[in-house]
Amino acid sequence: MRKWECTVCGYIHEGEEPPEECPVCLADKSMFVELVEETSGVEEATPVEAAAVTTVSEPSTSQPQSRLYNFASEQILKHHLHPIMSHTPNGVLPMALIFLLIAALFGFSLFETAAFYSYLFVLLAMPLVLFTGYETWKKRYRGALTSVFKIKIGASVVAVLLLLLLTIWRAVDPDIATTPSTGRWVFLGLSLILVGAVGGAGHLGGKLVFGTRKN
Ligand SMILES: [Zn+2]
Repeated sequence: MRKWECTVCGYIHEGEEPPEECPVCLADKSMFVELVEETSGVEEATPVEAAAVTTVSEPSTSQPQSRLYNFASEQILKHHLHPIMSHTPNGVLPMALIFLLIAALFGFSLFETAAFYSYLFVLLAMPLVLFTGYETWKKRYRGALTSVFKIKIGASVVAVLLLLLLTIWRAVDPDIATTPSTGRWVFLGLSLILVGAVGGAGHLGGKLVFGTRKN
């Protein structure tokens, strides 16, 4: 059986032909290279299309970068800091949404206050979530813009904008989530979209890390 490796995410496909699309990162067929088992045990890649390899940009060899930046970048990949950091929005924001609903339904304003500080906390963590994500994408996935990464980048932009909007809105109007009004439902609706955006980005990230394994 021939083996094909996705040059973007490392997914291995077994079969006579590479798949039309990588099931993990949605890179197309041209991004697959055949894995050839050498007698020395070293795997050598044979490009499906020579162009496929050259279109992938080489990571950061053209510009000199500071040692601190390189050190930070290395640590991010070595210690899987992006999956760790992304658990901040993915863990805290669903909780904040539940708190907002409790505040709206039962009038417990302390839950609303907790949700507001949760939003602030996640907003402060977002630069690290985005930076670790950017570095991981550039280095591990060579900055390949397959649809998975486009969706993840788009979801991150939406999440940051919504977080900013909701935090500022709540700072300006502290009663927005506790007082019945149309604005409150918009506030809660945007909070739900926020959870969806980070949840979606997180789900795709999980697929990239764990592949298509079922258990
Ligand atoms: Zn892939």
